[in-house]
Amino acid sequence: MEKNSIKVKRNILLNPGPATTTDTVKLAQVVPDICPRETEFVSVMKQMRKDLVKIVHGDPQVYTSVLFCGSGTLVMDVCLNSLLPEGKRALVINNGAYSSRAVEICQFYGLPHINLEFPYDQLPDLKEIEHTLKEDPDIALVYTTHNETGTGILNPIRQIGALAHKYNCISVVDTISTYAMLPIDIEKDNIDFCMASSQKGLMSMTGLSFVIGKKDLIERSRDYPQRSYYSNLYRQHEHFEKYGEMHFTPPVQIVYATVQAIKEYFMEGEDAKWARHLRVFEAIHEGLSELGFRNVIKRQWQAGLVVTVRYPVDPNWDFTKIHDYCYERGFTIYPGKIASADTFRLCSLGAIDVEDIKDFFRVFTAALETFKVSIPVIYND
Ligand SMILES: *Cc1c(COP(=O)(O)O)cnc(C)c1O
Repeated sequence: MEKNSIKVKRNILLNPGPATTTDTVKLAQVVPDICPRETEFVSVMKQMRKDLVKIVHGDPQVYTSVLFCGSGTLVMDVCLNSLLPEGKRALVINNGAYSSRAVEICQFYGLPHINLEFPYDQLPDLKEIEHTLKEDPDIALVYTTHNETGTGILNPIRQIGALAHKYNCISVVDTISTYAMLPIDIEKDNIDFCMASSQKGLMSMTGLSFVIGKKDLIERSRDYPQRSYYSNLYRQHEHFEKYGEMHFTPPVQIVYATVQAIKEYFMEGEDAKWARHLRVFEAIHEGLSELGFRNVIKRQWQAGLVVTVRYPVDPNWDFTKIHDYCYERGFTIYPGKIASADTFRLCSLGAIDVEDIKDFFRVFTAALETFKVSIPVIYND
């Protein structure tokens, strides 16, 4: 079979991951069958672990990466269940749906934690974070979501990480929706552990997720309570150190796709890739404002990856109908994740560029016209 002769329909995904992938990444999954215990496969994983550290500019002497088979939420689970010493507390900085998920994980394991809540459309208050850390010497772990994908707000991880370190805590950051997009410097950004997933910034398929973090802190966590059999960080790390592979069966084909995706990441280049996502983001804003749509998050606080849009106040507006119209034409839009407001989201992830956004707005505008939604769209305030 000649791989290049396979034609796959190209869909433009404007949802917050999985993202649109290149054909070369799709086809990289088609490989001869291989048992993942073979040294050939082990060496593929070894190189991948190094590359994952390199993407966030980590010193390979200090940082390592540990791979897990699952979606992004799995590595949130791993970091929280594995990195809290006995009798200590986690502080979750919470201004959105993904940090609320971290709180749910703490609740699920019965981990002592503080849910420090801020409004979903506001940046967390650093003074309040410092006050909380000062008041409670039992806090050992500070957890922050970099880009709150539910709204698109960018949290000040470098400052929060500095506060965590000032009070002898580790800084754990959910970078799942920024890794391999928004440039991250793991050391300068005061990150001890961050997380990523193959289907977002790397533009591969779902099924492989990573923790990137400090080797000495993983070693130290050996003596912490092990709260999960399958998804404990130390246990998985130990297996990688001893045998160079996951404890249990890895997602073989996704690994091959992700190897190709990493190759394409380095070929495009960190700055060029981020510049592309930003121009896609600008094109989304431009298209929306031409139609009169309004944002939920202040423009200067948006990370550049997710635009959250308020539903217009129009009896003919029906998100599902608009979605279906666009979907049938190869464009996927996504509902919002804010309990108190009706919103939808358009994201700049994936192997897409400005032309795709222009094509999308032609289809989206036709959808509004078809269902007789007023243009420009109407709001009451
Ligand atoms: C996508 C995402 C996750 C993980 O979601 P999964 O559906 O489990 O892959 C976690 N945190 C953030 C910020 C995300 O954007």
